[in-house]
Amino acid sequence: MGNLSENFNHKDFACKCPECKGEYRIHLGLVGILEDIAVHFKKRPKVTAGFYCEAYLEKQKREKLSYHSKGKAANITLEGVPAAEVFKYAETIPGVNGLGFYPEENAVHIDTRPPEKKEVWIKERGKYAPLTPDKRHQYGL
Ligand SMILES: [Zn+2]
Repeated sequence: MGNLSENFNHKDFACKCPECKGEYRIHLGLVGILEDIAVHFKKRPKVTAGFYCEAYLEKQKREKLSYHSKGKAANITLEGVPAAEVFKYAETIPGVNGLGFYPEENAVHIDTRPPEKKEVWIKERGKYAPLTPDKRHQYGL
């Protein structure tokens, strides 16, 4: 039992950069979504990226990932579960308005941005691009 929910602790979402020593910010709506995923797959998602502090965000120079700095985004992996399966399930969860498919890391980015800013993308060879029907077909999404 975590201090946030059944499966999660504040520490799971803390910034991983060496400068801020684990600053964190987390929206409980996002935690609820991750719990939903945990129940569905009967497995605890591992948060590979949660909150990004200002210094870390600046270092990355990636505006697209700013929902991490609002505590509204997490990249997750589930051991033994293909990212495509996690992606497909996450897409059915209300409130998931930002969804990134990262096949090379077997990870999925999930965020709770406002619905009018909905975005679905793919990261391949370190580059981010919109998830086109062709790419969906290629990866079975
Ligand atoms: Zn930091």
